[in-house]
Amino acid sequence: MKYRCILLFGAPGAGKGTQGKIFGAIPKFFHCACGDVFRNLRTDTPLGKVFLQYSSRGELVPDEPTIKLWKESIKAATSVGRFHPKHDLLVLDGIPRNVNQAKILRDTLDVVGVFYLENSNPEKLIERIQRRAIKENRLDDANLEIIRQRLKTYEAETKPVLKHYGNKLVHVINADQSPAKVLADILHYAVQK
Ligand code: AMP
Repeated sequence: MKYRCILLFGAPGAGKGTQGKIFGAIPKFFHCACGDVFRNLRTDTPLGKVFLQYSSRGELVPDEPTIKLWKESIKAATSVGRFHPKHDLLVLDGIPRNVNQAKILRDTLDVVGVFYLENSNPEKLIERIQRRAIKENRLDDANLEIIRQRLKTYEAETKPVLKHYGNKLVHVINADQSPAKVLADILHYAVQK
């Protein structure tokens, strides 16, 4: 069985997490942020160390351990009854993060919509990431050079995922708007899925 899902897509700092948390509070939606799954790892475990190694450089963790960890996390959420794959729409944030991950997950995900949170101003993204770094104690987001590398990684590796899914699935959302307006725009399409 494939998981019916929508993807929250966009650059770091675009507001995917904010939207994802709201979706997570609505019955029949289950939000999963891949970055949170990594951040919940203990840093003294082998994979926790690998995560720190890559995230502290603004780079992606290699695909194989990422997909394995993500699958384990979804299975764990299912077995404790937090996620009901038959009834819930899975809201993914931060995965698939490159075209290879999208290909690996082709048999696992039934992607019914991709919401591309598009920002016009990269400087605003940087400001937002830095504010969040302090508030949420996110090491990878504290340093300007790492943030710039994260944005480069996004442009080079993540953005091509949009083309992979194609125009029919992708909805462009103006992420310069207030969070409430962004939510309204996403919901407009998502409730039809
Ligand atoms: P995020 O909070 O989504 O920006 O993720 C923080 C960091 O976790 C990223 O910079 C990556 O190092 C790692 N990460 C999160 N999701 C993925 C993914 N799907 N593939 C590879 N690395 C990821």
